[in-house]
Amino acid sequence: MPIVSLENVSKRYPSPQRAGDQVTAVDDVTLHIEKGDVYGIIGYSGAGKSTLVRLINALEPATEGRITVDDVEVTALSERELRAVRTGIGMIFQQFNLFSAKTVRANIAYPLKLAGWSKADIDARVAELLSFVGLSDKARSYPEQLSGGQKQRVGIARALATRPAILLADEATSALDPETTHEVLALLKRVNEEQGVTIVVITHEMDVIQTIATKVAVMDRGRVIEQGDVFEVFSAP
Ligand code: ADP
Ligand code: ADP
Repeated sequence: MPIVSLENVSKRYPSPQRAGDQVTAVDDVTLHIEKGDVYGIIGYSGAGKSTLVRLINALEPATEGRITVDDVEVTALSERELRAVRTGIGMIFQQFNLFSAKTVRANIAYPLKLAGWSKADIDARVAELLSFVGLSDKARSYPEQLSGGQKQRVGIARALATRPAILLADEATSALDPETTHEVLALLKRVNEEQGVTIVVITHEMDVIQTIATKVAVMDRGRVIEQGDVFEVFSAP
């Protein structure tokens, strides 16, 4: 049973250039992500990757097709029900999106506060997460005092705080140098293997897919033009 499933999904936007015209950002995409996969989605800028992420995370409605996350059809939910689905999905970003005025521990505690956890439970969970990402000594630091790799580790800790089953990484290593990229990918691998979190990696970098993903979908102009095991998709014919 796939944990994320898209059946003939399309997303069209009104064209910003010409009134009445439409831009097809995602064009008839069908893909199935199995529980425990590290699933890569690769494509050039403008291929439709970010739109696909927003559809999976139910931040925007699909124009056509059917999307299910953890057996729940998100294309048929109310805003309130969607919030529950989003709690099951963690996200990390290229620019980390940390709160610059909050300490590392406050950043990580934030989703737990929103979810109504008690102070004692938050403290215990934050300590556990800091230890997992190797930043226990940075709890009181502010994001601007951290390196890029450290910021992304905070992002990962925050994304995992409420124990989501799925982690969406949207160009999460694109702002990092190659060495730091490999550190962050190694951490994501541990998240997948030790915590059983399904990871969806969106990137324009082939190297990232080959380092971490087991399955891949190649996007071009809104369409998935190839998908399958990384080894098969990228092996020479
Ligand atoms: P990628 O993440 O692969 O760079 P995007 O999903 O951002 O691709 O964009 C896919 C296409 O959809 C592009 O042509 C983009 O200009 C268009 N697009 C994305 N979001 C919008 C929007 N809100 N309004 C209009 N067009 C959009
Ligand atoms: P603020 O004062 O803005 O809440 P803090 O950095 O003082 O920012 O604390 C933010 C969150 O971190 C709080 O929700 C608190 O429960 C949690 N917290 C406080 N102390 C610790 C600690 N030693 N270890 C882990 N989490 C902590």
